[in-house]
Amino acid sequence: MTAAIVTRVEQLIALALDPAASEAEARTAAYVACSTIRQHGLTLTEPRGGPPLLERTRRCRTRFSAPCLLCLRPYSAGETVLGRPGVGAAHLACVEIARAA
Ligand SMILES: [Zn+2]
Repeated sequence: MTAAIVTRVEQLIALALDPAASEAEARTAAYVACSTIRQHGLTLTEPRGGPPLLERTRRCRTRFSAPCLLCLRPYSAGETVLGRPGVGAAHLACVEIARAA
């Protein structure tokens, strides 16, 4: 059951970050992904032996609002964030805090 939910959340995140998706589709997919994560009490963790969440990220200006990967509060459209295609993005301030920890 949980594996199916995780797969669904991964699909929603992929749609939210798909450059071919409309802004409305991306926003809705991001919202449903986040509400599903909260509803089922899922937690985000780094894969064992895999690259840390914040590696291979780059600064970019967002096209739409979506939840920050680190604090889950939304960043604004046009805001500069640190992100990775297919994964998501985080506020620059949240990244600074995470890297200092
Ligand atoms: Zn944040």
